[in-house]
This record gives sequence, C-alpha cells and structure tokens, in this order.
Amino acid sequence: GCTANGVAEALRAVADVISEHRDELVELDRAIGDADHGENMKRGFTAVVSSLDSQVPAEPAAVLKLAATTLISKVGGAAGPLYGTGFLRASAKIGAAEVPDVVAALKAALEGVQARGKAVEQDKTMVDALLPAVAAAEKAAETEGADIAAVLTAAADAAASGAESTVDLVARKGRASYLGERSAGHMDPGARSTALILRALAEAAR
Ligand code: ADP
Ligand code: MG
Ligand code: MG
Repeated sequence: GCTANGVAEALRAVADVISEHRDELVELDRAIGDADHGENMKRGFTAVVSSLDSQVPAEPAAVLKLAATTLISKVGGAAGPLYGTGFLRASAKIGAAEVPDVVAALKAALEGVQARGKAVEQDKTMVDALLPAVAAAEKAAETEGADIAAVLTAAADAAASGAESTVDLVARKGRASYLGERSAGHMDPGARSTALILRALAEAAR
C-alpha cells in the first residue's frame, strides 16, 4: 500500500511534471483550442502543492479529495471539472492504496470523466489516454507479484500510446470539435496531460 504522505509526494511529482510541460501543453492547445491548457493545469497543480504545504491529510482518500476540490476551483475551462471529478471519484476508491485499490481508483476516475463529459473512445479527448490506461492497469494487476509501480507504469505506457493515437482523430467533444476535420493532425492536449500525470505517478511509485 501507499501512505497519505506517499500520495502527497506523488501529487508533488505530478505538479513538477505539469510545470515542466506547461509550454508544450499550451502549444498543443493553441493548435486546436485556446492555448490555455498548460497554464490551467500548472495553476491547478501549483495550488494542489500549496494546499499540501499547509497540511497533508491523514488518509490517502483525503489527499486525493483535497486535490480534487483544489483542481475544480483552480483549473477552470473544460479540464478543471473533468480532472476534479476524476480525482474525486478516485478518492472514493483508493482505500489503503493497495494494488486493487489503485486499479479501482483509476477505473472510477475514468467513469467520472465520462459521466461528466460524455466523451467516448476516439472523440479526441483525455478519455483516449485514460481508457487504455485503465485497461492496461487491470491487466497488469493480474500478473503475479505486480506492485503499484508496475500497474501505474503499464497505465502510463498505455496512456502515452493513447495520447499519440489522438493525433489522427477528428475531435467530437470540447473546443477542438469546433474545428471539425481541421482538428486532425494534432495531439489532444488533455490526452497529453493525462499521459503526463500517469507517468509522474508511475515514477513516484518506483
Ligand atoms: P478549455 O477547452 O475550456 O480551454 P482546457 O484547454 O483546459 O479547457 O482543456 C481542454 C481539454 O479538455 C481537451 O484537450 C480535452 O482533452 C478535454 N475535454 C474537453 N471536453 C471534454 C469532454 N467532454 N470529455 C472529456 N474531455 C474533454
Ligand atoms: Mg483550452
Ligand atoms: Mg479555455
């Protein structure tokens, strides 16, 4: 399992990676959106770190819930409520943060994002990274002796491929859908940020 402090450290690692990739996310969003995704995400995760600096809650669930409420109030745009819902649903399933809890939390995050945003596979959204990540995590967890790092690494690898797969897609949800066919040829910024978040979580678990 993983302690509340472990989860907090993982979220700090996410904030670092999002900050490092702020400009990249802005440029992806400039191509098919309004060029704010990198700044929105950086603002949100910087606020998560500030919240954790004041106090780390005692349980993993409470840490994820704090992240969720902070992201909902600070990220804004389409992604804020979606990531906020994802983290909130994950918090309800993280329990003692053993391998099955981590898988359940990822699955709950996906279900929350889809309940909120109504996106399905190939709509060119963060779902295209998160959905294969959940499938990969479930499969990895079935392997004898799989630990959290192995499960999250499988999820991060699948999310990276999923984000790559959005390049060829035409957006059917969110701001990029206004471009129609012209949205093809660019990676979806939210799929990229989801892949970055999962990579940071996987690295933090090693
Ligand atoms: P905004 O589009 O309001 O400026 P952001 O730029 O922060 O918000 O986030 C855009 C990202 O949000 C997109 O790249 C996409 O991945 C994601 N997104 C938008 N709408 C949806 C939706 N309905 N379901 C899932 N993800 C979505
Ligand atoms: Mg945007
Ligand atoms: Mg915007």
